[in-house]
Amino acid sequence: MFNLKLVSLVGVALFVVGSLYVLSTSRVVVEEKGSFYPEPLSKHQLGRNTWSYLHTMATMFPLEDDETEEEKLVMIDQFLRIFAKIFPCPICGKHFEEMLQRTPPPTKGTRKDLEIWLCERHNEVNKRLGKQIFDCTLETIRASYEQTDGCPIE
Ligand SMILES: Cc1cc2nc3c(=O)[nH]c(=O)nc-3n(C[C@H](O)[C@H](O)[C@H](O)COP(=O)(O)OP(=O)(O)OC[C@H]3O[C@@H](n4cnc5c(N)ncnc54)[C@H](O)[C@@H]3O)c2cc1C
Repeated sequence: MFNLKLVSLVGVALFVVGSLYVLSTSRVVVEEKGSFYPEPLSKHQLGRNTWSYLHTMATMFPLEDDETEEEKLVMIDQFLRIFAKIFPCPICGKHFEEMLQRTPPPTKGTRKDLEIWLCERHNEVNKRLGKQIFDCTLETIRASYEQTDGCPIE
């Protein structure tokens, strides 16, 4: 009876020690290969990535250069207003909302107007933060944001 209890206890102990060993070695393997998981973004990293997305979206917006489709441009206007409300940097979103109120996106313009409008809004933020002012000519904007690797305009 005593022996049976002892054997069971030793069995449980071996199981626990074994499981801990397996867990600890698998963690070492993950750490050795480098982290698979991203680090949380700082406000600056988030801003940089978001601007990249917004400028690329404007430059790749599905309109021909001189085409005006009010419906599509109104969609961008609506998107940006919602985007500003949920941007996960509340102070940035609030400033952006104020900018949208003051200078709305060109809903009667063309894609070129949208690209330049966004560049100028980004420059407003740059100015407020004491950053360099970007050259908002279409050539400079497109040299930075036109996608050439597999996301062509349809
Ligand atoms: C909508 C929005 C509002 C924000 N509001 C605030 C705020 O109120 N306060 C705050 O502290 N931060 C704000 N940020 C973050 C801030 O704008 C920067 O993104 C952050 O400080 C990192 O700056 P950065 O020097 O890496 O360059 P970023 O300004 O992030 O720019 C990234 C890159 O884009 C290029 N670029 C620069 N200017 C332009 C332009 N005008 N047009 C096109 N390309 C350009 C440059 O190559 C630059 O290196 C906001 C971000 C967004 C997206």
